[in-house]
Amino acid sequence: MGIKVVKFGGSSLADAGQIKKAAAIIKSDEDRRYVVPSAPGKRFKDDIKVTDMLYACYEKASLGEDFKTEFAQIKKRYNDIIAELGLDLSLETQFAQIEASLAHAGREYAASRGEYLNGIVISAYLGYTFIDAAEVIVFSDEGVMMRHETVAALRARLKGVQNAVIPGFYGRSVSGVVRTFSRGGSDVTGSLVARAVHAAVYENWTDVSGILVADPRVVEDPIVIPVITYKELRELSYMGFSVLHEDAIFPVRTAGIPINIRNTNAPEDDGTLIVPDSDAAGETTTRTITGIAGKKGFCAINMEKGMMNSEVGFIRDVLNVFADLGINVEHIPSGIDTLSVIADAASLEGKQEQLLSALRKAVAPEHLELEPDIALLAVVGRGMRKTRGTAARIFAALAHGRINVKMIDQGSSELNVIVGVNEHDLHQAIRCIYDAFISSTL
Ligand code: ASP
Repeated sequence: MGIKVVKFGGSSLADAGQIKKAAAIIKSDEDRRYVVPSAPGKRFKDDIKVTDMLYACYEKASLGEDFKTEFAQIKKRYNDIIAELGLDLSLETQFAQIEASLAHAGREYAASRGEYLNGIVISAYLGYTFIDAAEVIVFSDEGVMMRHETVAALRARLKGVQNAVIPGFYGRSVSGVVRTFSRGGSDVTGSLVARAVHAAVYENWTDVSGILVADPRVVEDPIVIPVITYKELRELSYMGFSVLHEDAIFPVRTAGIPINIRNTNAPEDDGTLIVPDSDAAGETTTRTITGIAGKKGFCAINMEKGMMNSEVGFIRDVLNVFADLGINVEHIPSGIDTLSVIADAASLEGKQEQLLSALRKAVAPEHLELEPDIALLAVVGRGMRKTRGTAARIFAALAHGRINVKMIDQGSSELNVIVGVNEHDLHQAIRCIYDAFISSTL
């Protein structure tokens, strides 16, 4: 098929048992040539991730406090894994070096050691080349990853290397300091490696069988999305779906490489395939709706003024007020003589009075009010463009659930219908739409 880059998350590598599962997955397909591991994550609900243990050690070390007990627990996690995997490997040299540098090499250096050590263990277990991410993931001295330099360094280093393990989450700055991405950043490393080797697919192995159509805390047992486009994912992520690290999308998306979210604990499941273009993926799904997401915490600023529609520059003047106060505008649904601006409530904090008086001054509305507690609901689906009556079905479902709709917005892409409802109606609204579009087809 072509090269597969496989990234395994912390829960997929939390102990020797999980590492064995990951190794079996890797070895079952020779296209899975490059492996990007996270640090060992939680083995059970109240367990602590190695990355968090390292942050805690660093806090103590940087204050000059003794961190021997905490560090001994980290060593034990790796030594238990090594013993259970039956490896002839000692990390004592690395442990000693980390212990000695912890206080002065920086917080990011400390955190990065989780992936570094895990990479050594996993490469030994697989018999693959270990490539220190510090050699190939390049950051600027300000801590921003430099994509061109990184892709070039990865390409040069991986040339002729059949199989390798490249730890996730960290790299090195131009002047030689170890830097990390933000939390969950191994996803980004995987994406960069996939881009560098022109992978056929970037497999992201985790502990769920893909992206769910709706939040399982809201809808009982929602189904998995089999195929989703990058654009749809962007719409859903904006509304609170958290699947991958945000920065992991760009490197593969621009190269047209699909991401496959898979479950290490259920490798027989197909997971979710994130694709640039669903037709190219030879997709046959007939669902109109791909996903439903919702987010609370918005406000509506409602304005009314006779003959507003013929006042040239009215909307511009309104938006200037928001821009001058540094308030980000989410949506601007409008009528003939009415206009609402939807904004994030948090960005309005402490500025409400100022905003209202500036609006009065700028456009002299006859009526002006601020409506709090608005939630936005996004019904996302590339299938909508081809299907008539989708909007009717959405609003019939909401009416059936006795939900008052405060705002409607459909972008020209016909990919997304956004509905504003009262915050306390949000969950019920999601359930109504799920039932109408998904449950009814199962
Ligand atoms: N180990 C890091 C974290 O816990 C990075 C990762 O797992 O992606 O955030």
